[in-house]
Amino acid sequence: MILIDGKQTAAHLKEKIRSEVDQFLLKGLRPPHLVAVLVGEDPASLAYVKSKERQSQKVGFKSTLLHYDDDISEADLLKIINQLNRDDAVDGYIVQLPLPAHIDAQKIIMAVDPQKDVDGFHPMNLGKMLANLPTFLPATPYGILELIKQYNLPTEGKNVLIIGRSLIVGRPLSILLSQKRQGGNATVTVAHSKTRNLKDLCLQADIIITALGKANFLTGDMVKEGVIVIDAGINEIAAPEKKRGYKLVGDVDFESISRKASYLTPVPGGVGPMTIAMLLQNTLKAYKQRL
Ligand code: NAP
Repeated sequence: MILIDGKQTAAHLKEKIRSEVDQFLLKGLRPPHLVAVLVGEDPASLAYVKSKERQSQKVGFKSTLLHYDDDISEADLLKIINQLNRDDAVDGYIVQLPLPAHIDAQKIIMAVDPQKDVDGFHPMNLGKMLANLPTFLPATPYGILELIKQYNLPTEGKNVLIIGRSLIVGRPLSILLSQKRQGGNATVTVAHSKTRNLKDLCLQADIIITALGKANFLTGDMVKEGVIVIDAGINEIAAPEKKRGYKLVGDVDFESISRKASYLTPVPGGVGPMTIAMLLQNTLKAYKQRL
């Protein structure tokens, strides 16, 4: 079994981004500027945003965190979004999800300037993706595509099963992998909570991508010998032996799957680091488009 090393693949990508940024700085240009908007104190969201901030700085970007209390009104948040859209010194920004219940996340996403939408969640960018036009791809599916490319994993004509149909992982990935192009051309099935006979579908799959958010869901008895498994899940489970009292695991039961898979991504260190690297890649693209 070959372990797909997302951490190392992401590190290579970030080195490339860093050297491109250095070239721009040598020419006397300003660095790319990524802004993260965070509402509330959700510890997981705060940790994600802090990590994005640290890694932006490591590749030479300017990074700004705009952090608001969770009682900010939708109208005020929309004003902030409009300011970011108009601010020439901002190349790209993300609004960390989830937002508090009193804010309509869809309304916020719709207000983001598609040229600065480095998360690739705006319907205009999702539409471009559907039409196979250049755009900002959502970072997690983009990161998975990049892992498939870097490890030369065959997708053409393969049965790919994606478990999870969210707009940020499963659904865009299903489109990208079924498109007519290199790293695509797969026969894709998307499973969700209403899917019946999931085990049968798993047993037929050459490649399984899990994005459902259920710890250790996919077990060895559900897959065929030699399957390729990409685990996008990030789940916290209790771990009293750890200082923080929990640990992160994927949607895959690593132990039993690793005995049957030909390739497998670990959690942590698989898809997670790629997501941030692709966000940085999108930000560099947004910057270059605005030069
Ligand atoms: P989500 O919006 O909650 O979607 C979960 C999907 O899984 C839904 O489509 C749901 O079906 C489906 N599902 C739930 N239980 C199922 C079951 N028993 N059988 C089959 N399908 C089932 O989650 P998400 O935002 O896509 O995130 C999924 C996981 O990926 C989470 O662990 C999250 O932390 C992780 N994630 C990781 C990254 C990264 O950087 N690696 C980025 C984003 C998300 P229904 O549609 O029918 O409800």
